[in-house]
Amino acid sequence: MTKIHNIYEAPFIKEMCEATRNLWNNGWAERNGGNISYRLDAAEVSYYLETDRILNEVSLGFEIPELANMIFLVSGSGKYFKNVWQNPADNLVILKISADGLNYQVLWGLETGGVPTSELASHLKCHSVRLKKDPDHRVILHTHSIAISAMTFVHELNEAAFTKTLWEMITECLVVFPDGVAVLPWMVAGTVELGEASAEKMRDSRLVVWPHHGIMGAGQSMDDAFGLVETAEKAADIYLLAVSTPAGIVQKITDQQLWDLAERFGVVPKAGILAPKK
Ligand SMILES: [Zn+2]
Repeated sequence: MTKIHNIYEAPFIKEMCEATRNLWNNGWAERNGGNISYRLDAAEVSYYLETDRILNEVSLGFEIPELANMIFLVSGSGKYFKNVWQNPADNLVILKISADGLNYQVLWGLETGGVPTSELASHLKCHSVRLKKDPDHRVILHTHSIAISAMTFVHELNEAAFTKTLWEMITECLVVFPDGVAVLPWMVAGTVELGEASAEKMRDSRLVVWPHHGIMGAGQSMDDAFGLVETAEKAADIYLLAVSTPAGIVQKITDQQLWDLAERFGVVPKAGILAPKK
C-alpha cells in the first residue's frame, strides 16, 4: 500500500495557499470575493488521500459527464482568501465528480462545514470547454481585479475594442493572450446563466471579463492562470493611468507593430481585431 503523506506538503495545497494569499495582497479578493478551481492529477492526490473514501456526496443540479471521476481542489463558498493559507482544510475542498457526472463527492476539506464556491457551475463548465481545447488545462481563477473592473466603467464593452486597447498598453500582452479577452454583459453573480455564458466565451478566449465585477482566467497551471490575469490587469492599470493624464493617450503601438510582434513570437492574433497586415 502506498504510504499516505501529509497533505499540507502537497504542492497543489501550497500553490492554492500562495495564490489566494497573493490575490488578497493585491487587493483583488476582498471579504469572500473570488474563487479558484484546480484540476488535480488522481495519482498525485492518492499520494496524500484515499481517493475512494467519500465523506459526502451532493447533487450538482446539472450533468457534466465529460468531467466524470475528475478531481478538483476548489475554494469554499463564503470563505475568505485572506484566511486560506492559515487553515486550508477549513477553507478549501477536494472533490471528485461522480462516475455519472451528476454529483460531486467530497474527499477532503471544509472541516467546519460549508459548500464549494457558489460559482462551481461556472468553473466546471469552463473546465469542460477548456479541456476540449487543451488537454493540459488545469486552473480556472476568478478574482475582483481592480483596474480591469474600473476599465469596464470607462471603456466601451465591445470585446474586440477592449482586447485591442489591452494589447496596445504593454508590448507583451499580444504574446501572453493572443486569443484576446472576451467581455460578457453584466449578469447576476453565481447563476448557471453566468456559468454557461462564461464557458461559451472560453471556447475562444482564456480571459473573460465580467463588467463591474471582475475577471475569469484559465490556465495550464496556477502560475499560468494567475499570470494571465495579472498581465491583463497591468495593461488595464496602464490604460487608466494614461487616460487620466491631461494629455491623454497621444501615441500607441500600431497595428502593424502588433503584427510584427506576432510574427516574431509565433502567435496568431485573434481574428477581427487588428487592421489587415501590410
Ligand atoms: Zn466575483
